[in-house]
Amino acid sequence: MSTQTKMMYKLPYAGLKKYKMFINNEWVESASGEVLKSVNPFTGKVWAEAPSGNDEDINLAVSAAKEAFENGEWSRLTGSQRGKLLRKLGDLISENAELLAVTEVVDNGKLIREMLGQAKGLSEWCYYYAGCADKIHGESIPVEIPNMVAYTVREPLGVVGAIVPWNSPLLLTLWKLCPALASGNTIVIKPSEVTPASLLELARLVEKAGFPPGVVNVVTGYGKSAGAALSMHPDVRKIAFTGSTETGRIIIKNSAEHFSKVSLELGGKSPNIIFEDADLPNAVNGVLAGVFAATGQTCMAGSRVLIQSSIYDQFVEVLVNRTSEIRLGNPLDMDTEMGTVAFEGQHQKVLSYVEIGKQDGAKLLHGGKRPMTDELKNGFFVEPTIFGDVTNDMRIAQEEVFGPVVCLIRFDSEEDAIRIANDTKFGLAAAVWTKDVQRAHRVAPKIQAGTVWINNYRKVSHQTPFGGYKASGLGRENGMQAINEYTQIKTIMIDTGNVITDPFKVL
Ligand code: NAD
Repeated sequence: MSTQTKMMYKLPYAGLKKYKMFINNEWVESASGEVLKSVNPFTGKVWAEAPSGNDEDINLAVSAAKEAFENGEWSRLTGSQRGKLLRKLGDLISENAELLAVTEVVDNGKLIREMLGQAKGLSEWCYYYAGCADKIHGESIPVEIPNMVAYTVREPLGVVGAIVPWNSPLLLTLWKLCPALASGNTIVIKPSEVTPASLLELARLVEKAGFPPGVVNVVTGYGKSAGAALSMHPDVRKIAFTGSTETGRIIIKNSAEHFSKVSLELGGKSPNIIFEDADLPNAVNGVLAGVFAATGQTCMAGSRVLIQSSIYDQFVEVLVNRTSEIRLGNPLDMDTEMGTVAFEGQHQKVLSYVEIGKQDGAKLLHGGKRPMTDELKNGFFVEPTIFGDVTNDMRIAQEEVFGPVVCLIRFDSEEDAIRIANDTKFGLAAAVWTKDVQRAHRVAPKIQAGTVWINNYRKVSHQTPFGGYKASGLGRENGMQAINEYTQIKTIMIDTGNVITDPFKVL
């Protein structure tokens, strides 16, 4: 793909891009003929259209996925054959990383500087789960019943529905698709209505990799129509959902109808705890990475920074200075450090939280406005925003903003820090900054969160489980743990010599 200048990337085509969706290895319009419009958040203009699927399209996709699971070529493949297809997909993702990255940037305003690396890294999920595909097995259990052999097998669930948000469509889809396919399931993916494009580009690579028809389907559409239809479908045996806590609640209710399995990756209000003995320059960078990277639109955003009182003033001064140097700009420019908020509704929501913070009595130390320079005025930008003197009961400290807004909260003692960190309905992630190894080990187990980083922030790996405590979710993605989420256990017991003499005395 060509670059405009040394550091500016662009799409390999001009004009309005018209996408079709991917059902049973065919590229189709929606049954209703309706389309979604995707707005580039940097220009504020529509750049792509995708079909707006509803329950009719979901029914088609689910029945293709069911047929592929029960009777198709896919159902006869061995684990290592499934692994080979996943490996091929990984290779294609690496080869097409630039197109995937640029598409996602144009769709949601994420930085090319982050997305290029992320898109290349996505293939690691394919390779890791390709390696798992032929190592999924049960165990032999020495039961204490005479002449009885017992073992378990781990079986796929069937059709998986994956519903994903707009902030990281590719990454969060690969977290589901790779373990689901490695385990032998088939999948119907429903991208966010705000960002349909990158997952349709991914579907092109799925097709090229040679997955049989019906194994992977992508139905674009709104949550209330396509998403709801998928989560309520009787033939969907598991819903893997990433999105808001409110929608997660609806997904669980919908799953109750058919007792389908559910995993939920939801919101957060994660504490980033800075002790007085931390490496301060490193901790400042960790705070910036935690909340301003991805313009704060990450579930694991370190949006509450807890700072020990003895270093509060010194830390805040450095943080504000460093924040004032953040370069806002075109997300496709490699030099840009912070991009836009993903769409207009989210932009308004973030700015409304700035007002809420002021009304609550927090001290606005930096940002808080929409920048109106010639370069930035058309985009959904919000200045990196810092609120000081926040107390943990304020709304901006308790509610997920999902934007570049950070709350600074003072604490005095270790116990104080742990209490404030856990005083939230969420529990997705946390970080502890200290040079004291004993303190690090004392504090980490006491934090109610699915991931705790020590002296770093926002690092995830395909090898380590990720998920939330409390209102941040159910189940875990990544690592070997994810295979459990996409399989079910069957116990098989074989009698090797008992004679049933009394049918009414089983035990
Ligand atoms: P959202 O809940 O509005 O939408 C997520 C997905 O659900 C979209 O595809 C949407 O179309 C669909 N949806 C909406 N209503 C639905 C319904 N009634 N039935 C079925 N599907 C429906 O979330 P969002 O605004 O797209 O994403 C932001 C949220 O995602 C934030 O809360 C963020 O914290 C969370 N998130 C969590 C993680 C994690 O791993 N924990 C990662 C990224 C984002």
